[in-house]
Amino acid sequence: MVKLLSYLVLNIFAKFLFFNIKMVKQVISLREKCGVFAAKTKNAEKKAYYALLALQHRGQESTGISVWQGIIKTHKGLGLVSEVFKNSVLDKLSSNLAIGHVRYSTFGGLNEVQPLEVEYKGLKLSLAHNGTLTNYSLLRGDYGRFYNFKTSIDSELLGISFLRHYLEHKDEFEAMKEVFREIKGAYSVSMLFEGKIVVGRDPLGFRPLTFGFGDGYYFASESSALEMFDLEVRDVKPGEVFVIDEELESKVLTKEKHSHCVFEYIYFARPDSTIEGRNVYKVRLELGKQLAREDDVKGDIVIAVPDSGRASAIGYSLESGIPYEEGLIKNRYIGRTFIMPQQALRDLSVQLKLSPVKEVIRDKKVILIDDSIVRGTTMKRIVAMLRKAGAREVHVRIASPPIKYPCYMGIDIPSRYELIASWKSVGEIAKEIGADSLRYLSLEGLVKAVGLNDLCLACLNGKYPSWAFDF
Ligand code: SF4
Repeated sequence: MVKLLSYLVLNIFAKFLFFNIKMVKQVISLREKCGVFAAKTKNAEKKAYYALLALQHRGQESTGISVWQGIIKTHKGLGLVSEVFKNSVLDKLSSNLAIGHVRYSTFGGLNEVQPLEVEYKGLKLSLAHNGTLTNYSLLRGDYGRFYNFKTSIDSELLGISFLRHYLEHKDEFEAMKEVFREIKGAYSVSMLFEGKIVVGRDPLGFRPLTFGFGDGYYFASESSALEMFDLEVRDVKPGEVFVIDEELESKVLTKEKHSHCVFEYIYFARPDSTIEGRNVYKVRLELGKQLAREDDVKGDIVIAVPDSGRASAIGYSLESGIPYEEGLIKNRYIGRTFIMPQQALRDLSVQLKLSPVKEVIRDKKVILIDDSIVRGTTMKRIVAMLRKAGAREVHVRIASPPIKYPCYMGIDIPSRYELIASWKSVGEIAKEIGADSLRYLSLEGLVKAVGLNDLCLACLNGKYPSWAFDF
């Protein structure tokens, strides 16, 4: 807790200390959620393209691919994968070694879109990173004494730390061991370095990372992105590093207690992904069943906020015996509100992306299931939408406990001030969103439904994993 407090104090201090707005925004707002990919296989650039399409839900603001053609060649841009990569571009990236990235935030412009090329004392790598480094602002000051940072994103620190320690040890595993010792926080990282691929997952395994093998070696943030390649897949273990040169070699370099992000199961990952042996759809179904076991409300129908609330709504319906209906229809061509970077865009997109089926809703006592409530503004609009469509009662049920604390490990959960559950009671939130009643899943129920003990629950219970703040 002392470490966490010093981290917060340091960041607040940094806000007032640095006059460079870019720098301040980066220190305070390292919130992007991203997806990474790497492969050594035939047509690796095209496999990267397909995998990034499958990872698009993890970041829709920018994307890029780096390949090895005797030198590192990178193409990247702002926008969706299908907008940035055309056939003519991919043809010029032909290679059997590629890494790729999709990113949530466009903060910093094109030079901060990943993969990021980093150079130090004649060595160069390209890097794709998912996560947030908790001691970035401290280490940036230290490294800034001998290295001139080209960007204000924390991923550059990962690259420069690896190159610095590689120069010292001339060995990728030893370099990564030093990176794990030095850099705290969440990082699933893939690197293209000297004609090799180096991949690592932070010692606590906050963010998911999957390894696949078959007609080559593949890595992706989620298993669903590798499904199409017909591979054997497994999780990259926390603290595990892969180096792929002529052959593949992997080592687990640390022995920390794992801390997998529970929010990947609740909201972020695709339902067809499997993380730590637990299929995300099945987990969400179980969250809904558990929520029903803890509930006693009498409703006519169960409906979901599509899409991420759907599996839990089906689970709730199965357990309670109350029929499930499709009461809200999603416009599939509008982005997810949670990952829109500005509040104004988020507000507009709620109205654009959901519409009620009046014939399903009218005169019904509706049990509305969603995965989480962050600010409460989206839920307020949905409840009003259902009432306008003729719902007699609206009972909101949330398939996770209240989010009360910010995330410093790579998910866009805002400050406590913006989190409605950190300053309002459940009754007050129900009133605020206009619901007849509101109930959240219990913390114990969540852990039971996920079926893992080594979870990060910090945004729910305020207990931040100590390793991530051990600096
Ligand atoms: S604080 Fe919450 S969102 Fe962040 S890593 Fe932990 S569980 Fe995930």
